[in-house]
Amino acid sequence: MGPKHIFLFILDAVRKDHLSLYGYQRKTTPNIDKLAKQAEVYNWAFAPAPYTLASVPSILAGKYPIELSNAFTSGRFEEDDFPTLLELKKQGYTTAMFTANIVTSSLKTNLNEFFDYFWDNLTEEELNRPAWLYQKAEVVLTAVEDFVKKHKKDKLFVVIHLMEAHGPYVPQLDSIFKGDELYRQDNRMVDKLVPTTFRGVTAETLETFKVMPKYQAIMQGEDYERRVAEYIAKYDMGIYQLDKNVGAFCHFLEKEALFNNSQLVFTADHGELMGEENIFFSHGILAHPVLSLVPLIIKQPKQAKRIVNKEAVSLIDIMPAIVAGRKQLSPRPVTFTFHPKSIGVMWSGKYIVVHNGEFSDIETTQEDIFPVSSRGLDKILRDYKNFKSRLWLKGFRKIGNKYVEDKKMKREEVLELFKMFLKWQQSLLKRLEKELLNPRRSERLAVRIFLKSLTRENLFKRLREFGEYRWRLLIQKLKV
Ligand SMILES: [Zn+2]
Repeated sequence: MGPKHIFLFILDAVRKDHLSLYGYQRKTTPNIDKLAKQAEVYNWAFAPAPYTLASVPSILAGKYPIELSNAFTSGRFEEDDFPTLLELKKQGYTTAMFTANIVTSSLKTNLNEFFDYFWDNLTEEELNRPAWLYQKAEVVLTAVEDFVKKHKKDKLFVVIHLMEAHGPYVPQLDSIFKGDELYRQDNRMVDKLVPTTFRGVTAETLETFKVMPKYQAIMQGEDYERRVAEYIAKYDMGIYQLDKNVGAFCHFLEKEALFNNSQLVFTADHGELMGEENIFFSHGILAHPVLSLVPLIIKQPKQAKRIVNKEAVSLIDIMPAIVAGRKQLSPRPVTFTFHPKSIGVMWSGKYIVVHNGEFSDIETTQEDIFPVSSRGLDKILRDYKNFKSRLWLKGFRKIGNKYVEDKKMKREEVLELFKMFLKWQQSLLKRLEKELLNPRRSERLAVRIFLKSLTRENLFKRLREFGEYRWRLLIQKLKV
């Protein structure tokens, strides 16, 4: 029997090393720090994607984005994408999701179809993009509390997706970190605003300029605020506010005598770049380790002691552990972070990012996807010497509490890491082939295949040639 109540908090865009829990100089998370004394703290948890649209559904499904239908760009999912949620329902849980982010709301996805109860009452307008609605944590958590009070006798699985740390950084209160030592030491200035889509930004751009996407710009008279320290102080205040809300919610659970029997999970869908590669205050553009490495804290019912977990885990293992009633996530020797143009591979303390071509956001990358076939690997190795213009590639190594760029990473090591990816991909292909032979699925596919006069044999050939992700796109295109 699993815990009576399970609360999964997804704190959008919270990078691990900005939590005081993980040693950050600023006291950003006093409540989570306290909670973590009776919880398992994961030091090496990796997100499956560096942006919300792919990462959140992946976490909920317990699968990598490329194993889901259309996870990279469209946000439309199918019934068999979320076996985890179905299984929880079978176990008697009422499933609910409360989201403050438009990207996981019913305005942009059909995630709402997979929960018994779904709340996305978004009434706040984003600073520079009024069409991007969101909601304040206080409002979301009030709705959660009302729901919990009404259903406290039931078994509950509740997902709560909060936005306070997501840009533009406009904390409701002035940052308490403004003017502190970290603030005074940081005299960096942003040089250049780039399109929010990152269209046209190349590796060369990043060698010359400190860039920031337009949607983050906070105006200062005629010019925009350029002081990096100002933005970071505001971002940290966002994390502080999230933490304050988490504290208030735990207090609510205690008051209702539900705290002891609840399982609480806190994580982030991805991090945020704070000057790495000269990119400021952005995510979703590449599979950088700063975006991949996220906080993960799990408190079990009646847990008395803190456990520090030093194994590498992937957030896609949260749901399978919950479904199986396992207290710990299984360690993974290899984890992947997927982006339509990037792959991040973590293996035994090393991490590589391989990025194809220009930097640009997901909407502009459908035709320019990463070469995931074995032919793609040949190409990468051919281009490795002059990857700057064609392929952007970087190696990182685990040092202390984070990943640090490793300029000396050898070609052999890169090849080794990439082979890890291919091996995993091949096993996925085998599984897919099996699925295709399943009559229910193949019937659906047959219609699409017929439309393009493709034989099954041809389809398999294509599948192998293009790699699974390209294949998914192909199927997407064939859709009636
Ligand atoms: Zn996000």
